[in-house]
Formats: sequence, structure tokens, C-alpha cells
Amino acid sequence: MKIVTVIGARPQFIKAAVVSRAISKLNIERKKENLKLLDEVIVHTGQHYDKNMSDIFFTEMKIPKPTYNLGVNNLSHGAMTGQMLEKIELVLIEQKPDLMLVYGDTDSTLAGALAAVKLNIPIAHVEAGLRSYNMFMPEEVNRILTDRIATLLFCPTEQAVKNLMNEDLTKYVLNCGDVMQDAAIFYANRATPPPGCFDIGLFTLCTIHRAENTDNPERISGIFRALEEIALERQIVLPLHPRTLSKLINMDYDIDNSKIHIIKPVGYLEMQWLLLNCNLVMTDSGGVQKEAYFSKKPCLTLRNETEWTELVEQGYNKLVGFVTNDIMEGYRAITKNNPKFDKKLYGSGNAGNLIAKTIVKYLENAKNKLFNNNSTTQQS
Ligand code: UDP
Repeated sequence: MKIVTVIGARPQFIKAAVVSRAISKLNIERKKENLKLLDEVIVHTGQHYDKNMSDIFFTEMKIPKPTYNLGVNNLSHGAMTGQMLEKIELVLIEQKPDLMLVYGDTDSTLAGALAAVKLNIPIAHVEAGLRSYNMFMPEEVNRILTDRIATLLFCPTEQAVKNLMNEDLTKYVLNCGDVMQDAAIFYANRATPPPGCFDIGLFTLCTIHRAENTDNPERISGIFRALEEIALERQIVLPLHPRTLSKLINMDYDIDNSKIHIIKPVGYLEMQWLLLNCNLVMTDSGGVQKEAYFSKKPCLTLRNETEWTELVEQGYNKLVGFVTNDIMEGYRAITKNNPKFDKKLYGSGNAGNLIAKTIVKYLENAKNKLFNNNSTTQQS
């Protein structure tokens, strides 16, 4: 049994680390029982390629080395998706896998799914069913299209299952919990401080990288004005995404004299340390919103909507958008409010195992159609 996994961006490396580890564990058990093993061929599209955005995750999280690196990056969305599609198709023709495994909502996700569907290869989508209902976000388009053509839909939450039901996607839907919850539990005691941060005292952790913010001068300026103001009363540590860095350089933002403590993007273990030791998170990242909750920190989301609506409903997360005054108002409100992080929203850290086992079950039974093709909502 062979699967091809397509990954290309930072959050996908983190999610794939969890599932690849679960596959290795399952293979050890299956070997003892003389059962067929699941062979995973990893394809890195090259979308993220800096050492700090790619290599560090493979090393720290012990992700198997990709068999292919397609080297596709720094292009427009259309060109990137097109080039990836063409190159992934060649890999699939060579490897002849039984299934394609994709994660999340990037151009790499969509390209992997499209290449597979055109060759009649079934697709498993991890982090299926998320919706922002904002079709101007490239991520929303990628995730909706991928869900539409995927066979196995691995949802991280019950809300994601409901979103798929609303789109009449009801077959092979499994709420397995969130693989990022698995990662946060597995790596928590390996968290390490980034250089220069150990003694930093009270601080807010901030990340900004979403194109809807970075590519809009009004939005990025509004956010940075608020951050500068907050930094006067509380330190802000900002591991800066390369896309945001290049936009700030274009706007002549004085990074060296900024009141914000700007550092290079950090690896997963350093990020976990920042999450565990900060007092507040401000972000436009999907993953970091959840990680704020995993580490029991309130979060201000620098967007007008989120896919992780349960965090907002429970009062753990507040949407503050990009206008300076709105961010400041949200900041004042959230620093007075101390939510109890007592709800279990994303499973118990068993998502990777459930995904690996379900893929094997599907591949063993798909050919003779024994696989139960009803929706399941098993929670880890
Ligand atoms: N992350 C990291 N180093 C950083 C910033 C983020 O390891 O400097 C991790 C973060 O902990 C989370 C993931 O990257 O696990 C989120 O990725 P990103 O924000 O790039 O994408 P999104 O989740 O919005 O798709």
C-alpha cells in the first residue's frame, strides 16, 4: 500500500510530522502481525524553502526526508498551482500510489488534490471542512475545492463536520480531532526559548503573515500602528514571516528602531516556548489561534473572520480586524478578561493515529467496497 503526501508550507510540515509518526508506529504494529505496511512517499513542493520556514521543521520534528522537492515558489497563485500540478502529476505517474494525502489549504494542497483526481487517485484531506466564508482568501478557495474532490475528509472539529454536511459532503467524513493538538501535547516538554528571549519578562506573542493583511497597505499599517502603541506598555515578540518582512521593507518601516521585538521566524520548539511563556497572543494565523488556546493564552485575531469559530464562541479569542482603534479596544478588553480554558475543543491528541488507521482501513477495503461509506463522527 502506497500513499503520496504533498506538503509545501510551514503549517503542513507540522501537521505531516504528526501523521508520519503515526504511520511509522502503525507499521511497527503491522509488521509484527505480518500485515502489509503503508509506504509513504513525501513530496515537498518547495512553496516554503528558507531554512527557518522549512528545513528546521524536518530536523526538529523528525519528518522523513522528502523523496521529491519540486522547487516551486515565489510565483503568483495561478503559476504556482499550475507548475506544482504539472510536476506532481509526473510524480504520481512514476510512483503509482493508492492514495494522495494533503493538508490544510495552501496552493500545495490544491495542486496535490487536482493532480490526484485527474488520475483517479483517491484523496485524503486533513483539516477538511474549515470555512471562513470569505472567498477573497486564496485559502478558502483551496480548501473548498479540495474538500469537493477528496474521498476521505478528516475534520478537526464537529463544526467542520457540520460545514461539510451543509455542502452535502457526507461520505467518509470523520471528526478525528486536530493533528495540531497532537503536536502540542507531544512536543510541549521539548519547548526551548529562542535566543535572547529566556529572560524577557511579560510579553505578547504576535505573528502576521496572511496575504489579506500583508498585501493591503491600509491593513498592514493599521496593525503595525496598534502594535507600536501596545509595545509601549508591554513587550511584543514578533517572529517575522518573510512575506511580511518584504512588505515592511517596501513601506520603509524602520525595523531596526521598532519598539516591537522583531525576530526571524522560529522553529516549532521555540514557537512552543513563546506560546507557553507569553501572556497574550495576537495573530492572523489559523494555527497560532489554536495554539494560543492549547497553551491557555487569550488571543486577539487580526482578521474579521475565523475558521476556528468555537474559540470565539467560548470567549478565548476575539476578532479585532486590522483598524488600529479596533485592535486597541480589543486589547484593553481582553487584558481585563481572564477566560478559563476548560473546554476540550480539538480532541485529546489521537488524531494522527486515527488518520493513519482510517487510511489503512480504507486502502485494505476500498477495492472490494467493504469500507463503511457513511459519515462517522468519532472523536479522539
Ligand atoms: N510557527 C512557527 N514559527 C514561527 C511562526 C509560526 O513554528 O515563527 C508555527 C506555529 O506554531 C503553527 C504554524 O507555524 O504551528 C502556523 O503556521 P502559519 O501561521 O504559517 O500558517 P497558518 O496556520 O495560518 O496556515
